[in-house]
Amino acid sequence: MGKVTGFLEFERLHEAADQPQERLKHWREFIHPLTSEAAGIQGARCMDCGTPFCMSGCPVNNIIPDWNDLVFKQDWQQALDTLHSTNNFPEFTGRVCPAPCEAACTLNINSAPVGIKSIEHAIIDKGWESGWVVPQPPAKKTGKRVAVIGSGPAGLAAAQQLARVGHDVVVFEKADRIGGLLRYGIPDFKMEKHLIDRRMSQMRAEGVEFRVNQDIGGAVPAKKLVDEFDAVVMAGGAEKPRDLPVPGRDLAGVHYAMEFLPQQNKVVAGDKIAGQLKATGKHVVVIGGGDTGSDCVGTSNRHGAASVMQFELLPQPPEQENKPMVWPYWPVKLRTSSSHEEGCQRDWAVATKRFEGKNGKVEKLVAARVEWKDGQMREVAGSEFTIKADLVLLAMGFTGPVQGGLLEQLGVAKDSRGNVKADTDKYQTSVGKVFTAGDMRRGQSLIVWAIREGRQCARSVDEFLMGSTELPR
Ligand SMILES: Cc1cc2nc3c(=O)[nH]c(=O)nc-3n(C[C@H](O)[C@H](O)[C@H](O)COP(=O)(O)OP(=O)(O)OC[C@H]3O[C@@H](n4cnc5c(N)ncnc54)[C@H](O)[C@@H]3O)c2cc1C
Ligand code: SF4
Repeated sequence: MGKVTGFLEFERLHEAADQPQERLKHWREFIHPLTSEAAGIQGARCMDCGTPFCMSGCPVNNIIPDWNDLVFKQDWQQALDTLHSTNNFPEFTGRVCPAPCEAACTLNINSAPVGIKSIEHAIIDKGWESGWVVPQPPAKKTGKRVAVIGSGPAGLAAAQQLARVGHDVVVFEKADRIGGLLRYGIPDFKMEKHLIDRRMSQMRAEGVEFRVNQDIGGAVPAKKLVDEFDAVVMAGGAEKPRDLPVPGRDLAGVHYAMEFLPQQNKVVAGDKIAGQLKATGKHVVVIGGGDTGSDCVGTSNRHGAASVMQFELLPQPPEQENKPMVWPYWPVKLRTSSSHEEGCQRDWAVATKRFEGKNGKVEKLVAARVEWKDGQMREVAGSEFTIKADLVLLAMGFTGPVQGGLLEQLGVAKDSRGNVKADTDKYQTSVGKVFTAGDMRRGQSLIVWAIREGRQCARSVDEFLMGSTELPR
């Protein structure tokens, strides 16, 4: 703890953001990391409270009080090493993690929490700018071969950990670029994709091989990997979207969010998409109030939508949580994302009843208000209403991994929700040398959880291959 009275002296400072009118003109990031001096002052707000609840709030258990102190002392290189000791990719989490650590910060009980995520962002950006993030190739090779299926944060974290202890790692990805939802899902304005390319270069230098356009369980038989590799890590995500099977669902103009968002990622990357699904000049309705829905809002506004409405089935949460009741846990409260600030109407406790249109194209959405009592939803009589809709984006979450294909060919056991079954001690599936991590195992979740699972799974794979391991959990 650098400054004993820091939390009394300094206010929380948020990262600066460009004005909405400006940022809507482009697809680049618009949040500016704290300056070194400002980050130092924010680090001084950490009380080093003895029991660092922030660390248990953080899924990768980042050693937050230590790097807060190091940043206060302007010892950035040591701060970077400390951060990297628990998190392979802080440039991703420092940008798009919802920061459960901050909800758990002791200062959050009666004041504004330490800006942990902004300090993480500042550390890793400074690390890259200063040339301190370099490949860490293994001292010696083991001669063991590991296949990683899927290149999202779980697959990448597992691959990096395994390569660093000397295994020959090949990442197989069915898409045409590496990165999973980091690449094709999360919009560029939240996280620019050169950040993934930069990590890939580091990982290549550490010995990881990347193979794209490899649909394992599709064009490439899964058995081939089981036969050719000493261990296989399945990190294929939870790609099956939740549908809304109401009348009119099949009208043109009603799409899953993941039919819409990746196309824009590709266009920003320089690809040409014939007939790209665009919101330009359209009345857009986004169904689902989470992160994916919010990304649809930001993307639609950048396309120049005529209007954007976002519906959520649940009631509007309170603006402020009841802190004594919920701290240090993640509270349910109203969250307004940067995309919402850019222009969007939101409405809660609304259920979509049907879509209506002409000539096979959606024109209207018919909805009704709902009431929630004892966890049960009931339509409010006489509350039906209609709104104009030329483009409807379904962003109601994901039900789990795509069934069939890979899962069927490997014959792995599944849990009651259809995720691949494995515990968080071994991450081992019912098929001996096949392991699993990330959304494919835990269901739809967060980047930071995927990184945690990838790291822990790598440890278990290393132990399986070598009999013991020095990789951290
Ligand atoms: C639009 C959107 C926005 C999000 N925003 C955030 C956010 O802001 N912050 C946050 O923390 N989380 C966010 N999330 C959630 C987060 O992206 C995921 O929890 C995380 O990416 C899961 O990582 P993963 O590695 O398990 O899987 P994924 O990132 O889904 O990667 C899985 C990869 O496996 C590949 N694959 C699947 N099957 C096969 C196969 N058979 N053969 C070869 N490859 C295969 C897929 O193509 C994919 O590239 C968001 C999710 C979405 C959809
Ligand atoms: S990874 Fe997320 S939870 Fe962990 S310290 Fe960073 S922002 Fe907080």
